Amino acid sequence: MSFAKTRSENEEGVREYMDRRREDLLKGFVKDVNDFIDLLERTGTIISGSSALHLFQAKSAAIALRDMDIYGTHEFEEEVLKHFKEKEGYEVTLISERKTEYSSTIKKVYKMQKEMQKVDLIITEWASAIVPILQYHSTAVMNYMTARTFVSLYPKWTNDMKSLVNPRMYLGDTANIRTVTALMKYVRHGFRVTAEPFQLGIHDCLRSAYCPSTTRNTLDDNTLRWEFSKVKTVGNTTVACSDMAIVIWRLGGDDCEEDGNNDSATYIGVAA
Ligand SMILES: [Zn+2]
Repeated sequence: MSFAKTRSENEEGVREYMDRRREDLLKGFVKDVNDFIDLLERTGTIISGSSALHLFQAKSAAIALRDMDIYGTHEFEEEVLKHFKEKEGYEVTLISERKTEYSSTIKKVYKMQKEMQKVDLIITEWASAIVPILQYHSTAVMNYMTARTFVSLYPKWTNDMKSLVNPRMYLGDTANIRTVTALMKYVRHGFRVTAEPFQLGIHDCLRSAYCPSTTRNTLDDNTLRWEFSKVKTVGNTTVACSDMAIVIWRLGGDDCEEDGNNDSATYIGVAA
């Protein structure tokens, strides 16, 4: 099933389907789905990693879910932690404060567990929880869910099961076993993973959203945004993050063309 195609064919049916997929996915990790969505809304916290990719893919083809990765800002760190500990009964099993080799925007990672359910809370000091997503090892995982939307930053490639290795990975010579293992997981699931953008199809350099040297933003036309139906929540939430901050990025890296010599720098910025 093609996500993009069915969307125009039968919008209402797809809305119900997507709402139900989200509900099923979240139920695997939280008791109170609406309360959790309310928390996401209030704190600008997002869900990413394989759970977001899961939603993009047809149910039958989706990569099995073992854990959920959620991303929050330092500002709401305590509130999100409290929610999982007090309302959902999770225990923090590990806190790591290291900045990983390739994710300099990550301040802290909390590993939380409740029986077989595992949730990682990744905290950034940047103004938007989206920022660490842009440092992922591959474009296939540059997808996320906010309280209201599902967003895919490279939807065409992701839908075609193609993935570009983030140029950060080899520019900084930081490829390590963990990263290679992470990439292999996608190859095993049928993804074509490469560090050469032209192997994924031709593009108009510096213009196409699929050129790593192009500067993109999270609201541009090449970003796929899916709006979930609004959920009814108990009580009146004061909306702190009525919409997420716009994040601007450029993957950067070597020139796409073989004889080119204009490398472009990796860039990430948050616009108010
Ligand atoms: Zn290019």
